Amino acid sequence: MAQADSLEELVPLLKRSHLLGTIGELLGWDEQVNLPPGAAEQRAAQHAVLAETQHAATSDARIGSLLAGLEARPAELDADGTAIVKNARRDYDRATKLPAEFVREKAVQGSRGYHAWARAKAADDFASYAPVLEKNLEFARREAAYLGRGDVAYDYMLDKHDPGLTAAAVDRLFGELKRDLVPLMNAIVASPVAERARAVSGRLRGFPVEAQRVFLREVTERIGFDYMRGRIDVSLHPFCSGTGSDVRMTTRYKEDQPLDALFGSVHEAGHGLYEQGLPAEWLGTARGIHAGMAVHESQSRLWENQVARSRSFWRHFEPRWRELFPAQTAGLTSDDLYLAVNAVEPTLIRVDADEVTYNLHIVLRFEMEKKLFSGELAVRDLPLAWRAASRELLGLEPANDREGVLQDVHWSDGAFGYFPSYCLGNMIAAQLWARVRVLRPGLVEDFARGDFAWLLGWLRENVHAQGRRFSALELVRRVTGEELSPRHLVAYLQERYGGLYL
Ligand code: ZN
Repeated sequence: MAQADSLEELVPLLKRSHLLGTIGELLGWDEQVNLPPGAAEQRAAQHAVLAETQHAATSDARIGSLLAGLEARPAELDADGTAIVKNARRDYDRATKLPAEFVREKAVQGSRGYHAWARAKAADDFASYAPVLEKNLEFARREAAYLGRGDVAYDYMLDKHDPGLTAAAVDRLFGELKRDLVPLMNAIVASPVAERARAVSGRLRGFPVEAQRVFLREVTERIGFDYMRGRIDVSLHPFCSGTGSDVRMTTRYKEDQPLDALFGSVHEAGHGLYEQGLPAEWLGTARGIHAGMAVHESQSRLWENQVARSRSFWRHFEPRWRELFPAQTAGLTSDDLYLAVNAVEPTLIRVDADEVTYNLHIVLRFEMEKKLFSGELAVRDLPLAWRAASRELLGLEPANDREGVLQDVHWSDGAFGYFPSYCLGNMIAAQLWARVRVLRPGLVEDFARGDFAWLLGWLRENVHAQGRRFSALELVRRVTGEELSPRHLVAYLQERYGGLYL
């Protein structure tokens, strides 16, 4: 069979498997937004049937034989065909190389792990959770071994979330970032302005939910989120799911923390813009799927931080904000508002962290994961190691494990290697930002006029439309003309926060 014919037969099979996955996402969205409390068990059964159907579609032997044929004569494929085959191989191997018994055991362990973590966190009892973590590590190593990467298990875990990423690359990037960011953070925290920022943030109280909803809808619409092809609802934990012409975002409202829902929504809208910008005709193949979690996170962070925390953004939106909240904003100056939007305060809790300190929370988790996988650190020694790292990086020591090693859910179901993408996303966002500032020096004036079209157009063309043709690091190299480097993130933080605090 000619290579073009094989590819033509392969693509619909890939799309079918992907479509089944999107149905699962929709069920998951509905579960968190709409599900009646008595329907949980029925929903779990629906998930199980769908997962089985999707697994059968993904491991279809016809995909295997088409891939083998395509891989036998790689020279006959163009660059897009090569990318499609490479990504399909990755998915096919994951679906077929893990024994069914292992997959079943791992699912049970994941669910058990979650409950064990929740109990341990509530009781501040790391010792009861340690055996679960040990088991999860063992499962991760076994999974890597089934995929032929048992000797580099942590690389395998990183690659799961960001194709092509290695621990050595992350190590180099994070080492450099830590060196430059810790002194900057210390200087900001010691500044008398930090105190004022906290005080101003504390004055933002009593913002009615309905007006918050109106405002964030206007903001997300203005930056380009297409509500004909997506929607926003309320859930306990904000997220963005779906793709192409059906993107579902969620948020949550707090009357006394009005900036939370706003920046949370802009963040999710950044994820949503990426999904809406993928080439629709290629959904489900490497041409129409995102480039990995780091690039995904770069899109959400760029809109949330570089754009929506900027002075020029607020130059446009502040009048409308005051119009919606006249009593709540009386007596608040524009400088106060800008300071509240960019308040910095080291905290022990990652999800509460600001844009400056957040990255150090991730460096800490990466260092722990790396040492757990290399065997340098035993699970039982995690709490102590966590405390030492927290002191070194954040200048804070948790009084208990609830505020330390037990705070995050990720490891409880074995999601190792996921954390780094958060910080890599910040680095990529800052490097893209540096690039667009050079390409369009008047960009911030666009924002002040409420015009975000140029930026979105540039991201559409250079990032979104590329799908998964390149790894995160290669995409950055192609789009910005240089290797990914933390120096852009440090320079951006220095400019924004140095200007405000130092
Ligand atoms: Zn995100």
